[in-house]
Amino acid sequence: MAVQPPTTSKITVFTVGLTVAHVGLLEVLDQRERQRVDRAVAEADRARFLLGAALLRIVAGSMLDLPAEAVTVDRTCSHCGRWHGRPTLPGTALEMSVSHSGAVVTVAALPGGGRVGIDVERTGDRPTLEVVAWTIAEAKFKAGGGPGLTLHRLPPPAPRHVLTLATNQPAATVEVVEVATLLPSSTS
Ligand SMILES: [Zn+2]
Repeated sequence: MAVQPPTTSKITVFTVGLTVAHVGLLEVLDQRERQRVDRAVAEADRARFLLGAALLRIVAGSMLDLPAEAVTVDRTCSHCGRWHGRPTLPGTALEMSVSHSGAVVTVAALPGGGRVGIDVERTGDRPTLEVVAWTIAEAKFKAGGGPGLTLHRLPPPAPRHVLTLATNQPAATVEVVEVATLLPSSTS
C-alpha cells in the first residue's frame, strides 16, 4: 500500500450575529431541534439555538452537497445518551463544533477528519484574560481534550467577545468567515 502524503486540512469558522435569526430558519431544522427551540424560554436563547442549528446544517449541507434539511445531525450525549451532546454528522468525515454567547453564534467545520472545538464567550464585566482562559478550556474540551491540541485565538467576532479554537490538526489553516444573511437552503 502506498503511504498517504501528509494532507493540510483547513478549518473554516463561520460567525453570525443574533440579528440574522428569522423564523424561516426553522424549516431547515429537524423535529427535535424545533422542539428544543420551542423549549427555550428566553427569546435570546431561542435565537441562539435556532441560529446555531441552522448554521450547522447550512454549512454541512454545502460541504456535503446536500440540502440543509437533509443533513443527519446526531446530538446523542456520549455520557448519558440524552439528546444534548456535541453534534456529529454520522457517516461523514466532517467534524463540526458550535458555540453561542452574547450576540454571536459560531460554527467551525473541519472536513476530512480530525477534531475541532470552538468557543465564543461574551466578556461582559469579567476580565478579558479570565474569559480567554475559559474559552481555551471549553474549546479544548470540545475538541476531545487530551494533550497535543493546537490553539487559535481568533479575532473578536463582536465587541467584548472572545473566540478561541482548538484542534488536533497542528498544520490546519483557519479561515474566519463572517456571515451576513442566512437563508433557508430549501429549493421551494
Ligand atoms: Zn448528557
